[in-house]
Amino acid sequence: MSRKPIIAGNWKMNLLQSEAKALFDGIKDFAKGFSESQLPGIVIAPTFTSLSAVASEKCNCGAGCDKIAIAAQNCHWKSSGAYTGEVSVEMVKDAGCDYVIIGHSERRQYFSETDEMINLKAKSILAGGLIPIICCGETLEQRESGITDSHIASQIKAALDGISSEDVAKSVIAYEPIWAIGTGKTCDANEANRVIAMIRNVVKEVAGVSAADSIRILYGGSVKPSTIEEQMSKSDIDGALVGGASLTAESFNEIIANTMKVSV
Ligand code: PEP
Repeated sequence: MSRKPIIAGNWKMNLLQSEAKALFDGIKDFAKGFSESQLPGIVIAPTFTSLSAVASEKCNCGAGCDKIAIAAQNCHWKSSGAYTGEVSVEMVKDAGCDYVIIGHSERRQYFSETDEMINLKAKSILAGGLIPIICCGETLEQRESGITDSHIASQIKAALDGISSEDVAKSVIAYEPIWAIGTGKTCDANEANRVIAMIRNVVKEVAGVSAADSIRILYGGSVKPSTIEEQMSKSDIDGALVGGASLTAESFNEIIANTMKVSV
């Protein structure tokens, strides 16, 4: 089955509002030259403080740039209350988001985000009408001790626990080997494809064949314009979650353009 690829840019804790707007405009200007059907799905994840500013740059000209989606990099699962410093699904939706990234390894590592929290967030995001981008991945130590597949399968089972097949089908997963994030070391494309196919099998086990066929599973970890073509030529890789190379319009647009050469 053919799944529309997604190229998502995770800007992490970078860019002030004016810089975020300028970068978004650079991506929008590129996307304007194409129709929606020619482009992959494009998702941009600015910081919370730039969400509204970036969303206000979205246009309505009828070209592919209209469809650039905005993602938050995190959210809380509760709808409101005494949770100082947190932001709810309704709030990020109000700021213009369509997606929320959850379970990024930086949040698991530095902010103690657990599989249980990620599951609560996924449910709350879906209940709020947004789409979770659920990140998973192994450390170098886990890879070297041969537990990559079991570790990732358990992350995915926990994240999707209690979510209906219909909701799983519209969700997005990003396989991001932690040793490849921000290190310049990309996972071999065949190996990334193997792990992603394994993730798809786990999805089939928990949510059925139709959800497994529909769910988009991205690769993330030092994706660059020079790596994306090979990655996108693989059967199970449905796109990329891009960190460093999403911080200039030049490299991010080149990743989109190279994606369009092989799939879309
Ligand atoms: C990420 O943060 O999700 C990521 C994959 O970063 P980078 O592309 O810089 O490795």
